[in-house]
Amino acid sequence: MTLHVYDKHSYNSLYELSEHDEGILRDNPRSDAGQDLLSSLKSANRWIACDCKQPMALMYIRYKDFHYSLVNHYEKGVHDPSRCRFFSSVMGGPKEVTRDTDEALIGDDREDAFFIFRKFAPDEEQDKAKVSSKASPSLKKRDSFLRIYDNLIESTYQNFFHGKPMFRSQLAINKRLFIARDASSEFFVKGTKKKLLDVLYVGKKGYEIAVSELLKAKSNIVDRERPTAIVLLLVDQLEFNKRTNTLACVSYDDDGVPSLLHLNDLVKPPVIEADVSLPMKQSCIVIAGLTFINKEDELPVVGKVAIQPIVGEGSICPVENAYERWFVLVANSVILEWKKRLGEQEKLYVQKPSLISYDPTHSEFVLTLKTQIKPLRCLVRLTTTSNDLVDLPADSFTNTKFQFVVTYDALGFKDDREKFVSGCITLLNECINRLHSIQYDRGAYEF
Ligand SMILES: [Zn+2]
Repeated sequence: MTLHVYDKHSYNSLYELSEHDEGILRDNPRSDAGQDLLSSLKSANRWIACDCKQPMALMYIRYKDFHYSLVNHYEKGVHDPSRCRFFSSVMGGPKEVTRDTDEALIGDDREDAFFIFRKFAPDEEQDKAKVSSKASPSLKKRDSFLRIYDNLIESTYQNFFHGKPMFRSQLAINKRLFIARDASSEFFVKGTKKKLLDVLYVGKKGYEIAVSELLKAKSNIVDRERPTAIVLLLVDQLEFNKRTNTLACVSYDDDGVPSLLHLNDLVKPPVIEADVSLPMKQSCIVIAGLTFINKEDELPVVGKVAIQPIVGEGSICPVENAYERWFVLVANSVILEWKKRLGEQEKLYVQKPSLISYDPTHSEFVLTLKTQIKPLRCLVRLTTTSNDLVDLPADSFTNTKFQFVVTYDALGFKDDREKFVSGCITLLNECINRLHSIQYDRGAYEF
């Protein structure tokens, strides 16, 4: 694998980067040498191309907060995940996201990711075909609304659990939704200069504002463009009426008082990718897209709805099934316990990594022990079948020290929830003990 200095205007590789420079970009982009190199490349308007695959994966240089970093191009920056250290996130097509490969600031800084999506355009089918021809067969396609949500969660680090006490509160969760919404200022609506932030609303009030904004915008419709709004709603109970195409959303306030919102005239049935079915009782986020189908419509219709179950209990992190939800809740409480034992210099957290490349056949979590010298990580993978108990390749994205693969059955899930929870506690404590002992091993930092 070689890195090339690339001219983005002529689409040409100009020269190969020396092994020395390549090593710096790969291992130490934040060093003085790394920053000098990146700064000179940026001022010459150069990109970097990586020949881990053909056509080469492209990266560009970003300057932010007085710091240069290499960023994978949102469309052409897909590296070979099996052998390239610059691989950061599986990207299925032009709708995916760019991410900084530099993980050093995780948890401390908000990465700016951008996301491009299309309104409910007539050529959506065509678009889908394009995406699927590019996507790797192993990558499950995720609905665009769910990807928007994933991106907002990732860029606001709401898939990290630091052992803060969690409690069920509609206020707390709405606050988190607003934090996620803030991150949408970095995302753009495809084909316009509009920011996603301008069309994204939160909660029942947000829904009402969205409707009134759409009505205002309707009078200025030009050509085929349709005013669109997206609303994020916290819902505790859902029921879909196929006959009337209506989704009934019930949510409970902090005193347990229910409130009901009907999303009427759904153009398509709701999209749910998680392991749940309707009707359902579980905290989830409903992502509703409102638009006008015809100019004559008096009120906007709900063009599309996607449903994403969340951890709940104060967290809006997406989960795909009940095990994930319980695992996160257990992990958070285990970390809370460990926090009391660990010194000030050590931080422990669990991350649900790379929601964008989510693989529904298993759940992955990264447990990190952050010391003053270097973060130490281990990967915990929960799977449904024992067939997955194979040697895993070293994980370049998560850069983990070791990995645990555990089946739900092994954790006692088959029997009951309590057994599963106590299995998770044992597993997590073992992981943390191992990370802790590695830290004090001599030479632990050599690889
Ligand atoms: Zn590469």
